[in-house]
Amino acid sequence: MNLLIQGHSFRYEMERLAMMFFPMEKINWYIDEAPEGEAYVLTRLEQNDNSINLTAGLVDDIHRPDSIVLEYVDEKETELAMGRLLYRALARDTGITPPWGILTGIRPVKLFREQMSGAENAEKVFHDEFLVSPAKTELAKRTEVYERAILEQNRPMDFSLYVSIPFCPTRCHYCSFVSHGIEQARKLMPQYLETLHKELMDTAAIAKELGLRLTTVYFGGGTPTTLSHQELDLLMGWVERYFDLSHLQEYTVEAGRPDTITKEKLQVIRSHGAGRISVNPQTFHDNVLQNIGRGHTVQQFMDSYSIARAMDFDCINIDLIAGLPGDDLKGFCHSVDSAIALDPENITLHTLSIKRAAGLGSADVHTLQKEYSMAVDMVDYGYRALDKSGYHPYYLYRQRNTAGNLENTGFAKEGKDGRYNVYIMAETQTILAAGAGAATKAVHPITGEVMRVYNHKYPYEYIGRYDELRERKQQLHDFFKYK
Ligand code: SF4
Repeated sequence: MNLLIQGHSFRYEMERLAMMFFPMEKINWYIDEAPEGEAYVLTRLEQNDNSINLTAGLVDDIHRPDSIVLEYVDEKETELAMGRLLYRALARDTGITPPWGILTGIRPVKLFREQMSGAENAEKVFHDEFLVSPAKTELAKRTEVYERAILEQNRPMDFSLYVSIPFCPTRCHYCSFVSHGIEQARKLMPQYLETLHKELMDTAAIAKELGLRLTTVYFGGGTPTTLSHQELDLLMGWVERYFDLSHLQEYTVEAGRPDTITKEKLQVIRSHGAGRISVNPQTFHDNVLQNIGRGHTVQQFMDSYSIARAMDFDCINIDLIAGLPGDDLKGFCHSVDSAIALDPENITLHTLSIKRAAGLGSADVHTLQKEYSMAVDMVDYGYRALDKSGYHPYYLYRQRNTAGNLENTGFAKEGKDGRYNVYIMAETQTILAAGAGAATKAVHPITGEVMRVYNHKYPYEYIGRYDELRERKQQLHDFFKYK
């Protein structure tokens, strides 16, 4: 779809909004003129002496945009008014009503909290200003209560450690992470672990010199359990040796892919004190697993889950995805019911990203769009079933281009909320990260300012250029000293 920008600087937001209504299309933006004879979305601002004229909407053989006149308001208000005008016009002309209204960011709960602390009525702002549906406003409100309970326990010098293992047995078709098939990457593993060893030592030294206090450890990726049990033992041993774990409140290892899980690996994980793991089926249908190239069966998931359940993990998380190709509402409801029947402490409901789904090989855009509209009903069923079974939403985030413009939501049983997941979304706790593709996010204890240090994305870059990264991480000293 073409997007015409006239007289304003709100291109980024207008582009994001247009994407929600034309999810399968690339948005091409133009200034001043759209290509002749083609449909386009118009966004125009005209400044008069005492007022502003805004025009926004679809222009084609049938549709025309809407206009409003504003008394002079500031730039932020003008941008919001343009967003609302465009949202309403496109909702009318396309029949799509994105439930998060004009919000395009990935952290709606953080925004809800900011509105609350501004002494405004956050629900009213969400509904009237951002056009968020009553159901999503309620979800944000409910989730915020649980997030806040965790955030209030955070002390200014607390931090989390993230360790990245960007390898998986095979690559799922919908994957958005930089993850590498273990077969090709196996030869890099000794050097990867050696570099990670150095980075863990260096990171622990920084934490010690700055007087930071470690409260949560999270191994993610990728799939950390792609490592052998001996490699896991070595790696978790380094964490124990270099970091002070005496204040640790939570230790998580993602064991996402059931085809990587063995009893030995889980024993190693448990023996090093990690109490939380994820074992992710994504769906309880073998044909859907095949469609997404997941490389394991439902039975393999069930076997891995029972091995894990037989050990004394505090919390097992199960991920499900709504909107997978080949799934339908009945099938998804069965997956939700099957997950609940296993009684895990956490269930996370994701919605498939449309962009990535396009890479799944379906050429029929219309079919894909139909499948995605079903995601709304799937998620709705999931939320009701989880609610009835004693789970509450404790963190959520949005990705661009998800089926039905929905969200990913983590649900937990009472007292089983995952702190790290909340910290990463709220951006109020320092996260020191190690490994390829990881990102350190330092939060200044007094000013709240955030400094980011990005590690190299690919393992070979990470290995070859570690000295550069080491230098960059030393800047954390200056950042924390600065007041
Ligand atoms: S298991 Fe996760 S990280 Fe690995 S390929 Fe699949 S989606 Fe990507």
